[in-house]
Amino acid sequence: MRKIVHFIAGKDFEDSSENTASVFAPNTGEVQAEVSLANTSTLAYAIETAQAAQVEWAATNPQRRARVMFKFKELVEANRDRLAALLSSEHGKVLVDAQGDIQRGLEVIEFACGIPHAQKGEYTEGAGPGIDVYSMRQALGVVAGITPFNFPAMIPMWMFGVAIACGNAFILKPSERDPSVPVELAKLMIEAGLPAGVLNVVHGNKEVVDGILDHQTIKAVSFVGSSDIANYVYERGARAGKRVQAMGGAKNHGIVMPDADLDQVVTDLVGAAYGSAGERCMALPVVVPVGDDTAEKLKAKLIPAIKDIMVSHSEDPNAHYGPVVTSAHKERVEGYIDLCIEEGAELVYDGRTNQIPSDSQGFFIGPTFFDHVTKDMRSYQEEIFGPVLQMVRAKDFNEAVSLASDHQYGNGVAMYTRNGHAAREFAQRVNVGMVGINVPIPVPVAYHTFGGWKRSAFGDTNQHGMEGVKFWTKVKTITQRWPDGSDTNDNAFVIPTMG
Ligand code: NAD
Repeated sequence: MRKIVHFIAGKDFEDSSENTASVFAPNTGEVQAEVSLANTSTLAYAIETAQAAQVEWAATNPQRRARVMFKFKELVEANRDRLAALLSSEHGKVLVDAQGDIQRGLEVIEFACGIPHAQKGEYTEGAGPGIDVYSMRQALGVVAGITPFNFPAMIPMWMFGVAIACGNAFILKPSERDPSVPVELAKLMIEAGLPAGVLNVVHGNKEVVDGILDHQTIKAVSFVGSSDIANYVYERGARAGKRVQAMGGAKNHGIVMPDADLDQVVTDLVGAAYGSAGERCMALPVVVPVGDDTAEKLKAKLIPAIKDIMVSHSEDPNAHYGPVVTSAHKERVEGYIDLCIEEGAELVYDGRTNQIPSDSQGFFIGPTFFDHVTKDMRSYQEEIFGPVLQMVRAKDFNEAVSLASDHQYGNGVAMYTRNGHAAREFAQRVNVGMVGINVPIPVPVAYHTFGGWKRSAFGDTNQHGMEGVKFWTKVKTITQRWPDGSDTNDNAFVIPTMG
């Protein structure tokens, strides 16, 4: 059985802990590897190693730090097919989607290549008599990232790409469900010239997360995962005096106005609702047609499109999506399908019995579609994170805006219309962090920032872009004067003013 071990000080590291977790092959349902779960002494070793390596790394000039990022990008590109196959085999997303997972992470690395510019400070000459003021953005020290299963390449790169480029040393605690690609990325960073110890991967579960949150050497923690755990991580980390950003779950709405191009909506919606088996925090699991007429027309076009979806093994080039990540997750999603039926919604298309590959024990769920879902239903209020689309009909524009705005999650939202005025008003009014206008999955490009609102994010700083640079650095402001001996200060007891 393949064993996945920690990566510390530039090397594989096996500790004495007997604790392991099974890594499944979601295509077949078999266990394909065991991942070590660290004990506290392994975490302590990783932190000490990172602390020792960080000082010199922070003192390395920013263009040299950027060069490591340039080289890393080249190496990931050269290894992209191998990494995508490994990612797909542990996660279950189809190969082309696994390539996209890597590509979206690389775009953050491209942003990090510009760190000499992004980390520059500010300077004011002559802020007072003979006085200049400047600021610098300094690395925090040792920092950590805790990542979910659903983007095992992109989300680690969001975090360590920017944090390391800024001069920090990093402890990555990836999801124990698909831990191999994060380790491979760390190895490629070392091959790219990163000094050993600046990026370390420690596998584990709650025990390691708590160890990270409580350890005084770790100055900042970035977390992405489900909301209850994000909330817990935010509170515990903040209580320990750390800077914390914790991104949580989502339930994104796609609003369809009566004037929308319904063919475009259907194409976008089936991709955004069912792609990656719905295991995306920017998926569109809720569609809100405005008016019954729009709802009926949309439903008539959606049903054949859903029937055409091909669910198959993740290496099948014809597959639109593959299995979900584990049998436990499959049961959870199917539990929500049962709940939605019990709550009185209309099950238009049942993915538990349709489009499942018959030759496999894998964790497959076919595309499922409900109509007449209402806002009081728990299956609507909670995140399902599977290939389940719920239609909630709104009588007018205001009701559609309120549905998205009042939902506990506020990660993303999309609106389909040909009316620029309605689109503009929607973007201004809706209480959600990332908005798409005729764009189904509005994940911002790397030089903008990613972050939801309400229970989709705890903390006030987004991922990547300049918000990322802000999160991973602290500002120091220097006010300096070089007296020539002739100036006097007659009023040293008074708060200095600059005149
Ligand atoms: P998860 O919350 O189960 O796990 C996330 C991380 O937390 C993992 O590293 C895991 O090992 C750790 N963890 C699990 N249980 C813990 C506990 N009790 N205490 C401390 N740490 C614990 O999430 P997941 O199932 O891996 O990922 C899916 C979730 O992530 C979904 O809710 C999805 O919406 C969310 N997500 C959000 C974003 C975003 O940017 N908002 C992006 C991707 C995924």
